[in-house]
Amino acid sequence: MPVSDQTTGVIVVGTGIAGLVAALRAARTRSVILVTKAELGESNTRYAQGGIAAVMFADDSVGAHIDDTLAAGAGLNSREAVEILCAEGPKRIRDLLALGVEFDRENGVLARGREAAHSRARILHAGGDATGAEIESALVRAVLASTVQILEYTFVRELLVVDGRVCGVETVDAEGTVQRLEADAVILASGGAGQLYSHTTNPAVATGDGAAAAFRAGARLADIEFYQFHPTSLAVPGNFLVSEAVRGEGAVLLDASGRRFMADWHPDAELAPRDVVARSIARQMAAQGGAPVLLDATGLGTAVLAERFPGIERVCRAHGFDWSREPIPVTPAAHYWMGGIETDLWGRSSLPGLYAVGEVASTGVHGANRLASNSLLESLVFAWRSVDSLSEPWPASRVLPDTVFAEPVTGTGEPFARAELQTLLWDDAGLFRSADGLASARARLAGWSAPSGVSFTALEDRNLLELASLLMDAALARRESRGAHCRDDYPDVDPLFARHSAFQVRGRLQGSTLAKDTIDALL
Ligand SMILES: Cc1cc2nc3c(=O)[nH]c(=O)nc-3n(C[C@H](O)[C@H](O)[C@H](O)COP(=O)(O)OP(=O)(O)OC[C@H]3O[C@@H](n4cnc5c(N)ncnc54)[C@H](O)[C@@H]3O)c2cc1C
Repeated sequence: MPVSDQTTGVIVVGTGIAGLVAALRAARTRSVILVTKAELGESNTRYAQGGIAAVMFADDSVGAHIDDTLAAGAGLNSREAVEILCAEGPKRIRDLLALGVEFDRENGVLARGREAAHSRARILHAGGDATGAEIESALVRAVLASTVQILEYTFVRELLVVDGRVCGVETVDAEGTVQRLEADAVILASGGAGQLYSHTTNPAVATGDGAAAAFRAGARLADIEFYQFHPTSLAVPGNFLVSEAVRGEGAVLLDASGRRFMADWHPDAELAPRDVVARSIARQMAAQGGAPVLLDATGLGTAVLAERFPGIERVCRAHGFDWSREPIPVTPAAHYWMGGIETDLWGRSSLPGLYAVGEVASTGVHGANRLASNSLLESLVFAWRSVDSLSEPWPASRVLPDTVFAEPVTGTGEPFARAELQTLLWDDAGLFRSADGLASARARLAGWSAPSGVSFTALEDRNLLELASLLMDAALARRESRGAHCRDDYPDVDPLFARHSAFQVRGRLQGSTLAKDTIDALL
């Protein structure tokens, strides 16, 4: 779809790769307000290490990238979305190059790495292991030089909905002042929710605010039980990520006695799919009394480690590890949310006027498990597409037959405790799940009161409670194991569950574009 000449106001929420790309592209023809709750560059994007996957080399093919993505997704991907991701990816990478993103090169040509479950080396990287920081700073520079109006330290609390259509956002600033901003369309690019878990690679801003606000406004969330756990974060407070690319370069995993153990679990050993490696490490840790396993990168050599992974090297040294001489302790941590606001192939949610792009969206690209380095690419491709569809009429509402109608959390109960919520999710809705654990954790959540107030912490707490409750309900309902969702009591894939889960707020269908008899039948 071509970008129209019409000038329309757009609000973009979030300044990771998805929000910055959407804002830049929309600003070519429209007035754009870009809202972000912290400083401009703070985001998951900034911390991305390994790189961005795309078919840029003659020995690779779009078909191979599609096949790898579908294999990782365990039968829940949308094939159309995956085809778009892989086919449009190379064009969008060239746009990033044109914007000044400096990917690493060898002898003048783009360098590339390999990561788990990719059949080819196709991961572009920058600054060794600083891919996200390089992309983020190039996009921030471009946005600062554009006409985009930027509001930092401004928290989007709710979406404004009039006659079933999103027409703006309600914001709160650091002083607690509430404001309403109106626009013809809102593009949510507010990222993931790693802060749901006590161990996460995500920064503090990743509290799922956009998904929670969209749910309250009436948008449909999909596949929220699928949370990806990265196998290797440094086993120190803060869980600094040790990129999969380190294993891609040849590092191996050892148990406490120094034995390689991954081949016991999967023929691809350290390069098995991410969920398999994460669960194998967790099982190995349980077998050795909870002690972290070891990642041995000594075979890569001092020069390769320093040049290819300077950021990880710096953090290892800060914690007293010399990884060129000794294995380092690693443990899994919550990393990426496959679920989110359900969208079509143009980033459009089920709620007219509301787009969702990047990690907050559920486009169907990742299915039950994300292929490494596909998320930056997904953010880029679908943020671009969302702007291309801004001037198109909103499509008629689709109804998912399995949609569950739920209530937002309310204000009665015991005081909320964020640290306890994070531990409950880690223990009972983490790498391994069961009906008993989920049900008792869910009951604990139900006893809490939704936090109130306008401090950013209180607003985030309410959103975490909202999403944690939904995630547990979804995890309870999916009585099978698939991709990142592993139920001890239902260990196999069940074809009956080869479908997306979906949640929507009860009552908010009124005023939607659905016919009244359809609404009545649904409620
Ligand atoms: C340590 C780490 C390493 C990673 N490595 C890779 C990798 O190598 N390759 C890869 O493809 N992916 C990687 N990922 C995943 C990838 O970085 C993210 O999925 C991607 O950056 C998401 O981009 P985004 O723009 O959707 O969201 P984000 O980059 O998370 O940006 C979200 C933005 O929304 C803002 N925001 C949130 N809530 C509100 C609110 N209420 N009001 C206003 N603003 C709000 C935030 O402040 C932030 O600016 C990694 C993630 C982490 C954490």
